[in-house]
Amino acid sequence: MTIRVVIAGPRGKMGQEAVHTVINDDNMELVAVLDHKELAPNLVQYEQFPEQYNVPVYTELHTLFDAVQADVFVDLTTPKVGYEHTKAALFAGVRPVIGTTGFTDEQLEELVAIAKTSGVGCIIAPNFAIGAVLMMKFAQMAANYFADVEIIEMHHDRKLDAPSGTGVKTAQLIAKNRVPHKQGNPEEHENLSGARGADIDGMRIHSVRLPGLVAHQQVLFGGAGELLTIRHDSFDRKSFMTGVKLSIEKVMELKELVYGLENIL
Ligand code: NAP
Repeated sequence: MTIRVVIAGPRGKMGQEAVHTVINDDNMELVAVLDHKELAPNLVQYEQFPEQYNVPVYTELHTLFDAVQADVFVDLTTPKVGYEHTKAALFAGVRPVIGTTGFTDEQLEELVAIAKTSGVGCIIAPNFAIGAVLMMKFAQMAANYFADVEIIEMHHDRKLDAPSGTGVKTAQLIAKNRVPHKQGNPEEHENLSGARGADIDGMRIHSVRLPGLVAHQQVLFGGAGELLTIRHDSFDRKSFMTGVKLSIEKVMELKELVYGLENIL
């Protein structure tokens, strides 16, 4: 069966890669894209894509869902609209695969509830790279033995949310195994606000934003006389496409929301 896919954010760095991935997959069909800017009615007129990419462009999601039969809705936009899009797709019965990061815990809880009530499958993956998922798993494992950890996540300087979805997800996985406690010197004082990074359960996350970077993270575990560093680098957005494809296929079998690629591997 061919899976009919819609992509929101086709001009973005991730969106462009996802358009190529879906169009070049024999088991998928890109039936429409959602762009908030009215640039052209079809992707053939977009300078980013080859002339043979004959895909209708919509600027309004409800109009798109009324006009096009779709199985899966892929969102690679911004946190604010990504959340609204996910809700709209769930209500329309089109399974969301969400790469957009930066949703709040309250938003995630609401989406979990909507997916459960409606019985519509949904995957939200803060990181589609298989190597990044393994980095998170290894970090969770290490937390059984090391209670002191700091996360340094590094991204390109156009990224909107901080800390990254991967950084937060890593901290949540570590928190399942780590003995909870506040790290560092109990008397420590920041002479410059933010110097010690963000606090999650007493762990610290530091966000680096620089041109030239794509998506990178290291998790540092400190113990008596030793340091364990677990590191992952995405040098190219192609690293995310295996996870995008896998999620599009797997979401067809789901009846509820799954958060994190590690739960479908
Ligand atoms: P980007 O290059 O800024 O692309 C975002 C695109 O969304 C832009 O083209 C933007 O259009 C478009 N957009 C904004 N509002 C829209 C709307 N209402 N409808 C349709 N399109 C809309 O960012 P990116 O690097 O591709 O990242 C996109 C998202 O994916 C971010 O949340 C990022 O954190 C996340 N991400 C996830 C993964 C993962 O593995 N899960 C990996 C990398 C990035 P304009 O150009 O007109 O503003």
